[in-house]
Amino acid sequence: MNAPLPYLDPALGHAERVADLLGRMTLPEKVGQMLQLDAKDGVRPLIEDMHAGSILHTSPERVLEAAALTGRTRLRIPLLVAEDCIHGHSFWEGATIFPTQLGMAATWDAGLVERVARTTAVEVAATGVHWTFSPVLCIARDLRWGRVGETFGEDPFLIGEMASAMVRGYQGEGLEDPTAILACAKHFAGYSETQGGRDASEADISRRKLRSWFLPPFERVAREGCRTFMLGYQSMDGVPITVNDWLLDEVLRGEWGYTGTLVTDWDNVGRMVWEQRVYADHAQAAAAAVRAGNDMVMTTPQFFEGAQEAVARGMLAEAEIDAAVGRILTLKFELGLFEDPRHPSPERQAAVIGAREHTDLNLEVARRSLVLLANDGTLPLDGGFRADASGRADAAADAPARTVAVVGPNADDPHTQLGDWAGASGQVDWLPDGHPRGMVRTVLDGVRDHFPQGWKVRHARGTDILRLAPDPEGEFFPDGQPRPRVVVPAEPDGRMIGEAVAAAEDADVVVAVVGDRIELVGEGRSTATLELVGGQVALLDALAATGTPMVVVVVASKPLVLPDSALDAAALVYAANPGMLGGRAVAELLLGLVEPSGRLPISFARHAGQQPTFYNQVRGQHGDRYADLTQRPAFAFGQGLSYTTVEYADLRIPRPGVGPGDTVRARVTVANTGARPALETVQAYVCDTVASVTWAEKELKAYRQVRLEPGESRVVEIEVPVADCTIVDASGARVVEPGGFELLVGPSSREEDLLRAGFTVEA
Ligand code: BGC
Repeated sequence: MNAPLPYLDPALGHAERVADLLGRMTLPEKVGQMLQLDAKDGVRPLIEDMHAGSILHTSPERVLEAAALTGRTRLRIPLLVAEDCIHGHSFWEGATIFPTQLGMAATWDAGLVERVARTTAVEVAATGVHWTFSPVLCIARDLRWGRVGETFGEDPFLIGEMASAMVRGYQGEGLEDPTAILACAKHFAGYSETQGGRDASEADISRRKLRSWFLPPFERVAREGCRTFMLGYQSMDGVPITVNDWLLDEVLRGEWGYTGTLVTDWDNVGRMVWEQRVYADHAQAAAAAVRAGNDMVMTTPQFFEGAQEAVARGMLAEAEIDAAVGRILTLKFELGLFEDPRHPSPERQAAVIGAREHTDLNLEVARRSLVLLANDGTLPLDGGFRADASGRADAAADAPARTVAVVGPNADDPHTQLGDWAGASGQVDWLPDGHPRGMVRTVLDGVRDHFPQGWKVRHARGTDILRLAPDPEGEFFPDGQPRPRVVVPAEPDGRMIGEAVAAAEDADVVVAVVGDRIELVGEGRSTATLELVGGQVALLDALAATGTPMVVVVVASKPLVLPDSALDAAALVYAANPGMLGGRAVAELLLGLVEPSGRLPISFARHAGQQPTFYNQVRGQHGDRYADLTQRPAFAFGQGLSYTTVEYADLRIPRPGVGPGDTVRARVTVANTGARPALETVQAYVCDTVASVTWAEKELKAYRQVRLEPGESRVVEIEVPVADCTIVDASGARVVEPGGFELLVGPSSREEDLLRAGFTVEA
């Protein structure tokens, strides 16, 4: 029997196999290996003519077709199949779709988020997809940006906790595990620092600002072994990220020792030619992108000719291409794809996709993601219920049967329930109707399924949010991508509002479900305003005027500006696109079948003109308000209520003098002074009282989640390593400056919620 070719011999080391394979590849094969192409219009030419190393947006049928085609190529180099499985296996019909990242962040529970990612990986791996473009580590600061819901919110520490958990979950025990998928930290870095919230605009951001807030979460996952990074769309200081040597080479691969794979974002290389116009042709752009250390070039088919031309014109050495291809091949060897290409497995799919335990986890996350922002005691309804065996609220036989009006445009909208990057959200074309309707429980479904037997449910939509019209600029962008149609807000409709008002007048309580819609969310869909679009404000005002107690549920991708009729409602709940079971979770929360425990990972503004409203702003400003409006947000980072009251007392730091290598240890007494259990998120912020540079007044450095029974009081220990009490000095170095600090502990970032205790870092 012939010995296998060295690169096909699993007994050899990866480096040896890569070297052997590279030696056999032609230049077109090498350049093709660097390409990740869109499988939307068919896979055959991508594999046979362009030798693509990776494909994305591949329908289930095409994954199979691609697998068969790859097996017939000259060198049989396995494909990497990639997809945006960012809150579940988004585009696989019937997969488990979790709350969006912002909803996950509202749980503040890294363990839970790790389980979400593990579960997603198990579903994804069964379908022949090897790589998810998740998590997003961008910091959401300007709420007008369309992608806020894809983020973990506004705080670098919380983002780091959540992202690290997600990467662990996706990558599992290691890439050899057949249920592991590649995680992708994106969008590196500073992409969210938009101008005016406009997507992918030039980011006005200094290196020091990057190092202060934007890079730390990325640094954490780079050091922890996240295997791939995706570069942002934007440019900074005139340099597109794709060719930003400082960020890619000096910082990422140099300082942080990152050895993983870099993928560009969609047509980043082409954009440098047609959009940003920093290169005259694709040969120049390709040469620059390879030189800067990009490994995989997403959806720039012109890179295929461009890179070859760059070599022919002497602008790029083949050895530079070899370095990138070597990294891609190494990844494929590490995944073991040459031995087991991890093709789709119908048996695994039947066993794991939408499995019962996955659905249970999804419900748990949805429940934990809900944030109760206001409550005058109306919730839980009728003082709360217990569930019967079917999960329905079990009302006492003599309890009065109530009438509930469930109104509003998001009360029964399965797509908004799931949010962007799922089902019919538009990125792929094989799920035009989204996920099976029966798998999605809207708030109306939840009320019908879980409110006590005998209660009457009345439903009226009340208003539309918007309609779509063609973009007056034309149907396509210059690169041929279709322009999304533009939003035209719906006019309030007297008849529809009248129906909702009639339902409310007839009811004991109104549940008004408002928010945004997928057309107001996502890439290229930033919003100029943050108000509820269409007839929603008119609807809420009319409902408030009925005098029936109103619970407002905001199902929205991001914090919106709410009218007084919502802010003054009997209760207010935020449900960031809460996933397939979000509506059930909301119904359970209203009934007190579950306790509210979510905390805001991002602030709610009172007015779009307050942007940005994030809590950790840098000190130094004349005054602290606008002439015509407070600067205070409507709801601040960390806020969220329980159905009980929790009091904080006695913050102490027994040893307030610490050295640079020490840990600050504090204790605080947290007491449940009400009648229901609490899951309290005890938050600890640090303030560097005097620093060599202007710095944030406070930054989250630690938090603990504690369960407290009614009447229970606990001493909670908080630990903050002194090494984390840093600032970034004027030269850009992250340092701990000895001197006075304060530890601030409480239930939210608001000044009035925090106890303070001083400590001193000695030199
Ligand atoms: C987005 C990325 C996404 C990629 C692939 C881009 O437009 O910015 O977040 O992963 O498309 O779908």
